[in-house]
Amino acid sequence: AAEYDVKSIKEEFPILNQEVNGKPLVYFDNAATNQKPNVVIESLNEYYRLHNSNIHRGAHTLADRSTIKYEDTREALRRFLNAGEVEEIIFTKGTTESINLVASTLGNQILNEGDEVIVTELEHHSNIVPWQMVCERKKAILKVIPVLDSGELDMDAYSELLSDKTKFVSCNHASNALGTINDIRTIISKAHSIGAYVLIDGAQATSHLEIDVVDLDVDFYAGSAHKMYGPTGVGFLYGKRAVLESMPPYQGGGEMIREVSFSGTTYNDIPFKFEAGTPNIGDVIALKHAIEFIENIGKSNISKHEQSLLKYATDKISKIDKVRIIGTAKEKVGVLSFIIEGLHHFDIGMMLDSRGVAVRTGHHCTQPLMARFGIEGTVRASFAAYNTFEEIDTLIEGVEKIAKLAR
Ligand code: PMP
Repeated sequence: AAEYDVKSIKEEFPILNQEVNGKPLVYFDNAATNQKPNVVIESLNEYYRLHNSNIHRGAHTLADRSTIKYEDTREALRRFLNAGEVEEIIFTKGTTESINLVASTLGNQILNEGDEVIVTELEHHSNIVPWQMVCERKKAILKVIPVLDSGELDMDAYSELLSDKTKFVSCNHASNALGTINDIRTIISKAHSIGAYVLIDGAQATSHLEIDVVDLDVDFYAGSAHKMYGPTGVGFLYGKRAVLESMPPYQGGGEMIREVSFSGTTYNDIPFKFEAGTPNIGDVIALKHAIEFIENIGKSNISKHEQSLLKYATDKISKIDKVRIIGTAKEKVGVLSFIIEGLHHFDIGMMLDSRGVAVRTGHHCTQPLMARFGIEGTVRASFAAYNTFEEIDTLIEGVEKIAKLAR
């Protein structure tokens, strides 16, 4: 196999070729959002220079062209997730909206007083709050799978939580805060054995892990383009056809209807039933180029590279006095979360920034998880296709110096 050419991959990302605070930028905030390759930037530029037009209802050439390109991305996503049918892919503005869509349509439809929804202690707020909101509305109960000291889910506790009251299980594929890869295959099959629906939050998985929604037999799978080298403001929801068809619509407006009159309105077929209003056309079109960027390098090649970065960084940082890694699961995506005893995570982030190293600090939108570990936040370095071993050396050198300041 050809060697992984990180140098030429990195050259595809113009933003990485700059200095911050007089130092070459080292971008390790990829779990928050990763950077965009030239093909994505050029697609956005080309769309507004040559193709811009509203989709699906035009009789003219530009409208046709935009519609075809927009729908091409739907097919690219279908292939990317190995979904059976293109109609099972709904465009949203991101993972957050995808989860809200399911909670507020199907959740609202099927939950009754005393029913239960299961999430995990490892979830991003966007996979907690929408469920809390619908549970409150329907007097249903939110149950939580606890996390072990390693940052892995307590699967025995999960089995005990499942009952005939369980209507939904919603869980991430990989944790943004700790990197833990969850055993979603087991989570899905156990939930299905008692007849509950399963939503997987794939925000942190799409650019690292192979995803086959048919093989997983998952009901819903959500993701965000901006975490897969694509633009912000676009995401997707995969749903099984029969489930999507059984659901009430989400927002009302243009495109989601078949016929409107004051005596009543009928709704469009999926996926359009869930896509009211003019969507984010240019960004959806650019997403196809992001998907092809990942496919051209090969997701498994990217992930192999990120795994060696993670191992290299973990080995080195473990040797530094006063550093404690939070999240030591056996299976992790390229996320290294840590604290330095005696120093505030935000100060560590600022000091790394002065060395050109961009990391995220704080609770990472996972406050219940931070509470579980008795901390307010961590410093998080997260890796992508373009990161290098030299960049890890820069991070480690910084952390070594900063840790010496701790008392
Ligand atoms: N879930 C996880 C695991 C995430 O990492 C994120 C983004 N940090 C989200 C959900 C929300 O994604 P978005 O903000 O793109 O809607």
